[in-house]
Amino acid sequence: MMLFLIIALLTLGLCSQAIADGLTWVENGQPRATVIVPDDALPIAAYATQELVEHVRLATGATLPVMSEGQAGGVAGGRIYVGSTRAAKDAGIDTGALGDETFVLRGGEGALYIAGRDGKGHPLNFNNPDSGTLWGVYEVLERVLKVRWLWPGELGTVVPHADTVRSPSFDETVPPRFQLRRIRLYDRWEGDNVYLALTEQRDAQAKGIAFSEEGYARYLRDQLVFMRRHRLGNTSREVSTQHGFEGWWERYGKEHPEWFQKLPEGEMLDEWQRRFGSMWGLPLDKAHGQRGPADLESPNLVSMCVSNVELQREIVRRWQEERAKNPGKFVPLQLGENDISAYCTCDACRALDDPQPTEAEMAAMPPSVRGMYEPMNVARRYVLFWKGVYDMAAEIDPDVVVTALVYLNYFVCPDDVKLSKNIVLPFVPWGGWWFPRDPREQEWVRDQWRQWQRTGATLVYRPNYTWTGAGMPYVYAHQMADIYQFALRHGADGFDFDMLNGQWAANGTTLYLLHRLHEHPEMGVEELLEEYYLAFGPAAPHVKAYFDYWEAHTTANGLVAGEVMGRNKANNLHTYLRAAHDFYPPESFDRAEAILAQACKAVEGNDDPLYARRVDFLAKGLAHARLTARLSALFAEKADPERIRQQVEELVAFRRETEGLCIADFTKSGGDELKCFGDGFDFTIKPSPYKPVEMKWKK
Ligand SMILES: [Zn+2]
Repeated sequence: MMLFLIIALLTLGLCSQAIADGLTWVENGQPRATVIVPDDALPIAAYATQELVEHVRLATGATLPVMSEGQAGGVAGGRIYVGSTRAAKDAGIDTGALGDETFVLRGGEGALYIAGRDGKGHPLNFNNPDSGTLWGVYEVLERVLKVRWLWPGELGTVVPHADTVRSPSFDETVPPRFQLRRIRLYDRWEGDNVYLALTEQRDAQAKGIAFSEEGYARYLRDQLVFMRRHRLGNTSREVSTQHGFEGWWERYGKEHPEWFQKLPEGEMLDEWQRRFGSMWGLPLDKAHGQRGPADLESPNLVSMCVSNVELQREIVRRWQEERAKNPGKFVPLQLGENDISAYCTCDACRALDDPQPTEAEMAAMPPSVRGMYEPMNVARRYVLFWKGVYDMAAEIDPDVVVTALVYLNYFVCPDDVKLSKNIVLPFVPWGGWWFPRDPREQEWVRDQWRQWQRTGATLVYRPNYTWTGAGMPYVYAHQMADIYQFALRHGADGFDFDMLNGQWAANGTTLYLLHRLHEHPEMGVEELLEEYYLAFGPAAPHVKAYFDYWEAHTTANGLVAGEVMGRNKANNLHTYLRAAHDFYPPESFDRAEAILAQACKAVEGNDDPLYARRVDFLAKGLAHARLTARLSALFAEKADPERIRQQVEELVAFRRETEGLCIADFTKSGGDELKCFGDGFDFTIKPSPYKPVEMKWKK
């Protein structure tokens, strides 16, 4: 008893110490602090305040009062200053001097300052570098309220209940972890509207098989809010990973054909035809040693003759022109090759290349590795090109930043090259690098990264593998996190994932890790996954078993992927859905449903109804995947069109019923269906002309 009392007293002592040091926001469900914003708060500070107040309300039921600085003169109790307030300035925080996306947390008893450099940009815009204040609020919500965001929308927002909230003392300045934290979306912003970039997704909306119009606007908003809560965005010095020579053939092709690839001819052409068959962007039957694109209908599918010094001079001249037009702005020099393998066969280019592997050496490589040498490995000529242009530009501005791409047949790092750290290389594993990977492939990718890192260049990790899986429970959380953290430990200065497939329920753990790693890349994978599972309360072990089951299933599928894809004329990028019924047969869903049934049982009648609703979220994601796989099966067996129509109607009805829950991006799903089966069946359920979604909520 005595011991208990001593412990109790000690604990009390520690508590009062913490109280003296910190700030009380809410006590026994009553607000004890006021949130104070700058007079005429800019949108970012206003939105950050709204997020702060809303999460405190979710945790405690108390609504913190908000006042502008001018009104708050004699207000009693603690003060939480959000944004570039005068009080923050008086406390020594010069927000104007803070870098992009940087925030200061300062204060303890009496006042807490959460302040970044505020600007006019929209809070949900990824390219808004004035996001510091918002990032500061999210940091505090995570640390003080233990908020976690598992997926977009209300149900994925996990806010532990608290009667009393106190923040500790802070004194820190936090810059963004990387310049670039991007997961690409299919939508693009123009003014106040959002457009879908891909035709089949526009068609899916128009044909009425995806979201309703209102449902889509809501989904987009929930998704953006979620991604910003995970601090996705970039500083104004982010590097472009674009293809830098689009439009060049039209502009320069007539006058300077020698700047462009010289296509193969003669013996070399025969050899390429024999060894490699067809090639993307290079119809071999149209090649006869000419300069420029093989197909004049696709003028951007052309690579450059990078050994040409006049071309290099023109690139630098254009960069100077761009700088002159944008004084004071960061203007990187972009050398990213067009979206095509490099095909220049001129003598000058080939003289720069490393010796090519023999046919026997290539036959011994895993197919995905082999692809990086087809039709020839040209990495060394590209490295020399980047270096040559960099040297020219550095004479004009020693701080010049040059960007290029490590991609396709310029992916295999040459030995013995040294590059400036101002050469930024997005590393694009492309070809067969989908998950799950053969361990040999995973190791080979790591090796390539290590070698590029040794050159001294700055690396950005820029994979495409999030395209795949259609709406299936295609779970590869561990292998994805493994390579992410590897890149981070080996100098990655940014992450740029192309694209977000938005299957929030079916791929829950993979997508959670993908977002969460951007803020806490050093945290252990199991620890991060535990955050996810714990949001299901007593169902946590079953939810873990559920995702483990699908991850094992996905890994096993990897062993037969080539054969199954071939049989169904499917590929990972666009047409995975054609093979979905083969990869995910009905019995695989039966077993998953049985695991979720146990999860349901574990939360039945629980005091916290959110646990059961979250399990139901997973169950709905599973049902959606099952309906989709069934559709894939019907197409594969060439079922009666009437039967297919019924299946589509059932699927669409399900989508409409569940569209507010964010279980999946139905526009992506509908787009996949049109891409895979659109020719064979008229999906129109309720046609409506496609309109861009007006973002009223942006105002
Ligand atoms: Zn050339």
